[in-house]
Amino acid sequence: MRYFVFILFLWFVGMHSVNAAIPIKETNFISPVRYKVRLAGSFGELRGRHFHAGLDIKSSQGRSGDSIFSAESGYISRIRIQRAGYGKSIYVNHANGYTTVYAHLDGYHPELEEYINKKQIEMQSYEVDILPEQGMFEVVKGQHMAFLGNTGISYGPHLHFEIRETSTDKAINPFLFGITAYDKTPPVITSVRITGLRPDFHKVYDYKIPFTGRKKKVMKEISLEVPAWRAGIAIAAHDFMNDSHNKHGIYKLEMWVDDTLYYQVEYGQFLLKETHLIDAHTRFEVARKNYSTEVLCYRMPGNQLTMVQNDKQRGLINLYKDSWRRVELRVSDFNGNESKYRFQIKRAASFEALPSRTPNIRHGQFQQFKHKDLEVGFMPQSLARDIPFEVTSGADSVATEYNIGDSQEPILDGIRLSVLIPEKYLSNKNKLCFARLNGRGRPTDYGQTLKGDSLVTTTTDFGKYGFVVDEKAPDIIPLSFSGSPKGQQFRFRIRDNIQTSNGAQAFTYHVWIDEQWMPCDFRSLSETLTVPIGQLSQGVHNLVIEAKDQFDNLSRWTATFTKK
Ligand SMILES: [Zn+2]
Repeated sequence: MRYFVFILFLWFVGMHSVNAAIPIKETNFISPVRYKVRLAGSFGELRGRHFHAGLDIKSSQGRSGDSIFSAESGYISRIRIQRAGYGKSIYVNHANGYTTVYAHLDGYHPELEEYINKKQIEMQSYEVDILPEQGMFEVVKGQHMAFLGNTGISYGPHLHFEIRETSTDKAINPFLFGITAYDKTPPVITSVRITGLRPDFHKVYDYKIPFTGRKKKVMKEISLEVPAWRAGIAIAAHDFMNDSHNKHGIYKLEMWVDDTLYYQVEYGQFLLKETHLIDAHTRFEVARKNYSTEVLCYRMPGNQLTMVQNDKQRGLINLYKDSWRRVELRVSDFNGNESKYRFQIKRAASFEALPSRTPNIRHGQFQQFKHKDLEVGFMPQSLARDIPFEVTSGADSVATEYNIGDSQEPILDGIRLSVLIPEKYLSNKNKLCFARLNGRGRPTDYGQTLKGDSLVTTTTDFGKYGFVVDEKAPDIIPLSFSGSPKGQQFRFRIRDNIQTSNGAQAFTYHVWIDEQWMPCDFRSLSETLTVPIGQLSQGVHNLVIEAKDQFDNLSRWTATFTKK
């Protein structure tokens, strides 16, 4: 009996690894919309610092309001309203082990609206994250739940639709469940880059093969002598679909070297907690500048992405001076439409090694670095690779600004910055922010805690940091306000002098009309607050708006208006 169990176990493991690519259970999801699916975005697309975790389904008429239906029977397990991110969203848990997510909604079914409104008033917060018990909001397949919209970080009315494995929080490509769009058009390769690499994955040579016109599907083969001992390849490609003008992500990428598969990525599924690994999967220095989408066809040490399914020699190609290596890149969409590009490379007969700095901070280790009053703590998974790291500051013994590392280098898992507060700031240490100062515009707060006379911050960006004393409350600026309004709403801009990253608490706001707290929509993207007044009775009303930043700086805007 023991023997039998053992065999069965092996068989099970074997089955699992054979199907490890995409283990999909028997399901029968239907489309969450009642019109032909046309896509504005596909699963796994490279979106700056995250992978797209679902499908973006276009609206039927280019505007908000289409009805959204449950893709399968189940119960509503989460209702979330955010001023950024997914905006208004619904999560439905299904008996088949999956959760479907519907995001950027314009609004909910009236029954849900009423429930949410009560919760908002109870919590005195427009933003809510409600987890209804099973049995509270049961839905059947195809049941109307909400309306398509443009809330959160959204650039036009669409439905963001996700399928997740409930127990693992793994996002899975809805194409794998048959929710797909018509696609007969192969992907297009828009650039290929050959990089000479040191064993520590730092580049010693870089060559981008120029391509012309995107209609050129058959490209000229090139032969290149590379002044390096090994090469890594980066590729940019996107897909087109028949019913959409948008550029989509590809589904599969393969790199073959001398007829051996060296690197393979399939955008089928990923754990949501893996999404930040995109910074080790793409060419980060490009990604930061313009959200480019150059995918590395080699695996950096910090890249633990499960979507990488094959990485012979980590995808690195050893170069020899006497023999050419034939490289073939293949990109395909979900329907198997494929584009290829071939070239060959060999090692240059002679070349001079470039001067290089030896890495002093290693991937995979806890490490501390100290400069003046600043301590930088690295986690084992903080880095994509070993890096040469330094901190600089002015000549003074007490620094108020620090240049920390190279802003072109990605940080995967946050690093910890601990800085002793200079004496001159000690009197207002509760209003003190250790902010990132790079880039145009406002300083960025990554969130911090005060520990004695030190500030501790966790950041995912190298760059210039410094102290900012924040004694300024957010600005509240009327965009459309009238003492005798004709419309159904007022709009205001609320803007703080310090920008917040994901780690930091953004400002809070409250709206009262006639001393009644009101849930009012605020959109981070446009920094716009909407105050509905259509429901008010005729007569004189009193409006109060308050906004308070993370350092307790409070601003208040009041007015009266008369509704006719
Ligand atoms: Zn989306």
